[in-house]
Amino acid sequence: MNPRVASFLAALARRPLLGDGATGTQLQRIGLAPGVSGELWNTTQPDRVQLVHSAYLAAGADLLTTNTFGGTSYVLAGHGAGARVHELNLAGARLAREIAGDRAWVLGDIGPFGGMLEPLGEATADEVAVAFRQQAAALLEGGADIILVETMSDPAEAVLAVQAARGAGAECVIATFTYQQSAAGYRTMMGNTVADTLAAVIAAGADIVGANCGTELSLDDYVKLTAELAAHAAGRPVIVQPNAGSPRLVHGKILYDESAAQFAAAVPRFLAAGARIVGGCCGSTPEHIVAMGKKFPKA
Ligand SMILES: [Zn+2]
Repeated sequence: MNPRVASFLAALARRPLLGDGATGTQLQRIGLAPGVSGELWNTTQPDRVQLVHSAYLAAGADLLTTNTFGGTSYVLAGHGAGARVHELNLAGARLAREIAGDRAWVLGDIGPFGGMLEPLGEATADEVAVAFRQQAAALLEGGADIILVETMSDPAEAVLAVQAARGAGAECVIATFTYQQSAAGYRTMMGNTVADTLAAVIAAGADIVGANCGTELSLDDYVKLTAELAAHAAGRPVIVQPNAGSPRLVHGKILYDESAAQFAAAVPRFLAAGARIVGGCCGSTPEHIVAMGKKFPKA
């Protein structure tokens, strides 16, 4: 096994790990225009991408997430960069790897491909599998230790991404879904339960499972969701990376409501509910991660 993967798994067995916070919203704070592909900055503004990684490392994050969320050929094609999958993902992984050194582990980030699979959409499973595998291979080549498949709504798509990561040689794969509140409990946008989503990615080979982002979920919801995730994780470690509330547009600026103090106060509750990795998603900042780190048990 890759020694960095081995050291990650050993650390995770020993203590809960602190993830990092949002990448996209941080890049927007330092000049990325909304609607522009942040992945392009891996080659045009590498210093600014590394500023974000450095801020999270300094904040105490154990895990740095590559700036490659929209790095499939499908999403990049929407920005005229569909042929640059290898280049942009390789660069993204290298940027995080350089900052992480041996002080943090690098999560190679894979987000949704941005469409719907057949029969709801036009993309075939085979095509999407190829796209995920291309991305995963470049992330691993660039030095990602672990592949993070995140913000998934469709279990079939998540399964394709997990299998692609495995096929590309990932020795550790994390898979997280984004859930929302429904009358019947927490569900993906597609209506899938926590039990069904986790069972699907675990069968596909996910080592660590959980939730990130989410629509209209409070931190209290996230604590309850964590307990439900833990109950259906079949013994696998659980990761939770909440967004900092729902985005609100105020005077032309996108604001998030959940403060660093609120995130910090939730950390012991997440850990008690069964989370083994806690980080943040959209709207969370290095300040959130600093505050959260103070609530982690001392190593
Ligand atoms: Zn998010």
